Amino acid sequence: MAAPTVDDLVATLVELYQRAELRLARDIATSLKAGIDSPRWASEKLIALTALRMQAQRILAKLAIDSDDAVRQAIALAVQRGGRRADEEPGRLGDTPARGQGARLVRQALPGNPALVRLARELALTLRSTHVQILRWQLDAYRKVIAEAALPDVLLGLQTRRQAAQHAWERLLDRGIAGFVDRGGRRWELASYVEMAARTGTMAAAVQTHADRLIEAGDDLVIVSDSPRECPKCRPWERKVLSLSGKNRGDVQVEHATRDGEMVTVHVAGSLVEARAAGLMHPNCTHSVSRWTPGITKVGNANSNPEGYEAKQRQRAIERHIRRWKRREQAAIDPAAEKVARAKVREWQAALRQHIDEHGLKRLPYREQIGRAR
Ligand SMILES: [Zn+2]
Repeated sequence: MAAPTVDDLVATLVELYQRAELRLARDIATSLKAGIDSPRWASEKLIALTALRMQAQRILAKLAIDSDDAVRQAIALAVQRGGRRADEEPGRLGDTPARGQGARLVRQALPGNPALVRLARELALTLRSTHVQILRWQLDAYRKVIAEAALPDVLLGLQTRRQAAQHAWERLLDRGIAGFVDRGGRRWELASYVEMAARTGTMAAAVQTHADRLIEAGDDLVIVSDSPRECPKCRPWERKVLSLSGKNRGDVQVEHATRDGEMVTVHVAGSLVEARAAGLMHPNCTHSVSRWTPGITKVGNANSNPEGYEAKQRQRAIERHIRRWKRREQAAIDPAAEKVARAKVREWQAALRQHIDEHGLKRLPYREQIGRAR
């Protein structure tokens, strides 16, 4: 088996959370379905709440162990990647310490770097902070469905209790476990939030290692990559030269990398810290920086591709629809609703295939699979 990449580990984290979310939803649906025609249904369900809660706590305890492990591996690999990137850049002199070393060695080396230990702990804590909300969601959802399925409409026989429960449940399920807010105040659903946090954390670890290596080697200038389908926030920074220390700015003269005595003038757009504060390397950003080598690295000429960005956003939206209908299918109370949901999943999958073909995009199966039921 090939060694995992940082992307693989981000996908693993997203899958772990999606699987836990689905498992909780299925447990709720299974409990609500049991004895739904009994006159004592509502009171029996409230008694079953304690058992459901304990089951959820077990699922989350397991999730915490699995995700902590994946977080450590992901940060260690990101560190390795950041270090390797610095070593492989053009014009690099000297040794290449990280090359050929396994993730285990990097993991052992992690405690030596306080900044990276902090990044790993931050990511683990961010993910762990979702667990309280997950438990609250389970409790609220369960109680709301019971309350709505016991309303007068149901007592008068205008709709069956099963249908009433299904409708109330669908609304809650569609919203999913949501309401996670990032530092910028943006709201996310659980799976997207986990993915964003994992990408942001691993990217920060890679960028930090990379910058540390360059500074150690006496380099200060880096250049921002040109990303296909860049987001509007990052467009102004593509192929711009930035200073790691912030000491260089404006038009700066530096000696050519290979020609002694020859000076090269370069425009430094700002510091990396300033660029990040202005939006570069935001959550889910696809940009990176690499060493700027005087006289050798070309500056400017970034390709702008706003349509590509729109197409990628549309892909995300379709993936959300697929996940929503899969949840409905797998955690249905009413069998009729389950059938409808299955057809909807197929419809959206066909739409995704067509969209991907039309725009030459890459399909990311983990974003569509909300975790197979166990
Ligand atoms: Zn970006």
